[in-house]
Amino acid sequence: MNVEKIIVIGSGISGLTTALTLQLLGYETVIYTDKEADQISNKNAHAEFASLFPSASVIPHSLYSGQLKELFRTSQSFFYELRNQSFSGLRIHRHFEIFELEQDEPRYSNWMVNFRPITELSPQVIPRRSCSQNLYGWTFNCIFADWPRYFPALTACYKQSGGNITRRKVKTEDLPALPADTIVNCSGTGSRELFDDPLDEQLVMQGHLLHKPEAPLITNSSDEIISYNYTPKASAYSSSSGEACDVYCYPRRDGWVLGGSRETGYLSSPNTMECSKKHAESYQIGGLTIPTAILDINKDILQTTFGHSLSPSDKLHPLIGYRYLRSKEDGLRLDHETMYGKTVYHNYGHGGAGVTLSWGCALALASRITSKNKPQLQKLLLKEFEHIT
Ligand SMILES: Cc1cc2nc3c(=O)[nH]c(=O)nc-3n(C[C@H](O)[C@H](O)[C@H](O)COP(=O)(O)OP(=O)(O)OC[C@H]3O[C@@H](n4cnc5c(N)ncnc54)[C@H](O)[C@@H]3O)c2cc1C
Repeated sequence: MNVEKIIVIGSGISGLTTALTLQLLGYETVIYTDKEADQISNKNAHAEFASLFPSASVIPHSLYSGQLKELFRTSQSFFYELRNQSFSGLRIHRHFEIFELEQDEPRYSNWMVNFRPITELSPQVIPRRSCSQNLYGWTFNCIFADWPRYFPALTACYKQSGGNITRRKVKTEDLPALPADTIVNCSGTGSRELFDDPLDEQLVMQGHLLHKPEAPLITNSSDEIISYNYTPKASAYSSSSGEACDVYCYPRRDGWVLGGSRETGYLSSPNTMECSKKHAESYQIGGLTIPTAILDINKDILQTTFGHSLSPSDKLHPLIGYRYLRSKEDGLRLDHETMYGKTVYHNYGHGGAGVTLSWGCALALASRITSKNKPQLQKLLLKEFEHIT
């Protein structure tokens, strides 16, 4: 039998998940990639390679797409299925989104499991600062991908199922001679150089992180793991345009991931973002400039609510990565075009939700490539996973 060959460009979460999906559905796939996550020791030298940085919660934050609902729900249900199969690194968190100013419920409130406004909870369980007064927000269960476990497990799964990862930077002039009729473009910000992008706007959103290694899991009295996003008043922490900005904490097995920032700008070179203003107050940590709020506000919340300590003198690893938004209107590109007699499927521009949407986007593309519907594909895939995990 002749097996159709498919080339996937990029080995971030989009490339890996799409290639694995197609490989398990019977295609012969190869990933061409100029960088591989497990070969990179200094992540801060590759801020544009977004899959080095995700927190990685399965929540539709910082993403703009008309297809969001469908993609998210498919992705979320697939993550839950994988979790039921005990796939490495997938956990469920009780997540809080807390605000010091009143907020409308998010569009995704109906999509999340056990979504509840915090008015239904006892105040002691709600993440707060020592000076917090009225708080607003909600809580829900979310899938969390413990990145140092999940991403390598996914890579191993891909290789085990016969997938091939080849180190190679693809250039535009290489495209006509690539040895496959179907190409899947998951090259993230690399897409701007490789293909004509129909959007002029090419926005990225910077994200500052601090990793505190060896910190304990944060749990509540029911032993649920807790994570949070907390938005104080703009006077305590704001973006350069004056909008209130959130901080967050996601506990992983290897410590806490503390964030964050959401400053938008443009990539002037692959690894440099042009941004109008900088955060006013900052610490110098490990040679990088980190907004003080990430440390100070998280420290206050962690101490006040959970009795955990955080201090500038702790071992803290700073990271700065870019979420590739493209646009704040409809930034996700999930379409296809014909060029040089090949069909090129695009899968990029996932902003702050590339992990979140990874299965949704992979299944959407697989459905177009195979002409099978998504529930059918999802069933087939899960059967394959049963064999390899
Ligand atoms: C601080 C931060 C926090 C985040 N938190 C979350 C979160 O909690 N949840 C969530 O869902 N998402 C989160 N994200 C977003 C998520 O990390 C990204 O959406 C996702 O990693 C994008 O993956 P990708 O595979 O599309 O692109 P990338 O990870 O950027 O991968 C692109 C790949 O293409 C390759 N490539 C590029 N050009 C070429 C070329 N010419 N030839 C060959 N290969 C090429 C690169 O080497 C790389 O392998 C976060 C991002 C940041 C920065």
